[in-house]
Amino acid sequence: MKRLVATLLISSPALLVITSVCVATSPGQSKLRDGVTVQPALRPANERSDRRERGASSLTEAAARNAQLSRELNWTFGNKPQRGWYIYIPLIKRLINTKEDAAAAKFAQAVSKWQAKSGLKSSSVLDEETLYAMIKVWQDARLKDRSVAQPDQLLTAPVSDFYDPTRAIELRQIERRTYAAYKRMISAAIAERSLSLAHTTQGELAPTEKYLKIISAFRSPEYQAKLRREAPNSGSAGLAVNSPHFTGRAIDLYVGGEPVDTRDSNRALQVETPVYQWLVRNAERFGFRPYCYEPWHWEYVR
Ligand SMILES: [Zn+2]
Repeated sequence: MKRLVATLLISSPALLVITSVCVATSPGQSKLRDGVTVQPALRPANERSDRRERGASSLTEAAARNAQLSRELNWTFGNKPQRGWYIYIPLIKRLINTKEDAAAAKFAQAVSKWQAKSGLKSSSVLDEETLYAMIKVWQDARLKDRSVAQPDQLLTAPVSDFYDPTRAIELRQIERRTYAAYKRMISAAIAERSLSLAHTTQGELAPTEKYLKIISAFRSPEYQAKLRREAPNSGSAGLAVNSPHFTGRAIDLYVGGEPVDTRDSNRALQVETPVYQWLVRNAERFGFRPYCYEPWHWEYVR
């Protein structure tokens, strides 16, 4: 604890208040107070309230730590160094079942519950170990079978479904059931008035609407290899050697910003859009699961 206090003193004046709250309600002091000034008959009630205060102050401390770590935690995804977990907040909120902000005490409480359920120490702090456990849950929920789609499993979707209105016909293939699920999901998104998606009287996304249009669906191994040759240093996970796009069941959807740019600034903007947040809450109903690192990439897993 002493080491922690020293770190906090140096790193953030705002945390000083929290530190002093912890000290004031430390077990040693409350025991002294009980022993000296409190009548024996009142002790149980006071002990209960002390315990409540201690619980509240440790949650306040955890909440402050979460606010800091959401911006500053150093970790790696694959072998790419990352800073903070703020980009994943919508997915985290859904996973731990809370609507609260990452800096809220109730968010810390939800982290604690999730940690206990997942066999981790219930610190209420979303630290490196907790984040990796969350990422494992998301990654494990993705498509397992990445076999290349056979021609009879694919259909060619109309160009009106695509973000690029000039996309070539050979690049508009998608697995049949995935396409049907995508269209059901689009109908539901259009029906969600708060998203204000421009649509036709037939219930399709309007030509002027960009959100939720398909950027890319089926990519053949040959096409993927060509993309890699053209951008050998892109480092993009989207150009993986064993891409889920081979299955025809992975779709990249427009969720705002630069369509498929992994820079933090771009992803931070994308995860704030109502359309992305709607997908996080609703895509699972239609069989789609996220790839946490790319807000635009969704996989049909049924
Ligand atoms: Zn993708």
